[in-house]
Amino acid sequence: MERKKERPYVLEIENLSYSYGRRNAIENINLKIDEGSFLGLVGPNGSGKSTLIKSILGLLTPQKGSVKIFGKPLNKFRDWSRIGFVSQKANSFNSGFPATVYEVVSMGLYGKIGMFRFLTKKHKEKIIEAIEQVGMEDYINQNIGQLSGGQQQRVFIARALVSEPSLLILDEPTVGVDARSVNNFYTMLKQLNEEKGITLILVTHDIGAMSEYVTDVACINKFLHFHGGAQEFEFQQEEMMSALYGHDVQVLTHNHDHHHHHEYDGGAPQ
Ligand code: ADP
Ligand code: MG
Repeated sequence: MERKKERPYVLEIENLSYSYGRRNAIENINLKIDEGSFLGLVGPNGSGKSTLIKSILGLLTPQKGSVKIFGKPLNKFRDWSRIGFVSQKANSFNSGFPATVYEVVSMGLYGKIGMFRFLTKKHKEKIIEAIEQVGMEDYINQNIGQLSGGQQQRVFIARALVSEPSLLILDEPTVGVDARSVNNFYTMLKQLNEEKGITLILVTHDIGAMSEYVTDVACINKFLHFHGGAQEFEFQQEEMMSALYGHDVQVLTHNHDHHHHHEYDGGAPQ
């Protein structure tokens, strides 16, 4: 693929490995992400997706390799308000949680203005704009706990958007979102990417419809197995699916003598 030189990389990940104990959760990951792209980061449960994201965000310290964010090494990077993160566990408010959609989204500004400073008119406009961007304007004064999983997730995205990040990372945002809403949710993300120019990383274990919305795909299962354009991915999708998900299951039913082959053995990806 041709790449325009003047567009900087948002992320440059080199030879990155992280292990919680003796076994690597991710190993030798090399990945460069272009500004303005919408990357689908896919892999089965336990394949190291969250480990990779936490390493990017500096929440974990990798044993090997390096990460650059907006051209800066991770340990020199300070401008965290340029990065929005919505984690897997975001939508766990119970129904009694006493905060409205507006209040939850306003929390996204505290990093910028400090917890007890007053919100200016400009801030209030930004809050409303972020709520509109995720299509939740009809729920602005509703309690967060009374919304569906998918609606709550939109509110968390609005909270991440309110500080106007250039990179937004979503770790399994559609867990708990009903299947019918998932496509609407992806459409909203695609619009954020195209209209606002926000670089997006969407982490998911569900390859499903994702590839219709993203510009690029990265497949990991401890190692990076694939990184390329969404069309290129669709072309190879079946191969990729069986390499990442299907293979083990088939071996399991047909070959009882080689149990160790059921688990990915850590060999280099083809
Ligand atoms: P994913 O997000 O793709 O489901 P994770 O990055 O959460 O995968 O996990 C990758 C591997 O690391 C898994 O084998 C998981 O069990 C292991 N792991 C994740 N978190 C921890 C932890 N805090 N301590 C020990 N092992 C962990
Ligand atoms: Mg995860």
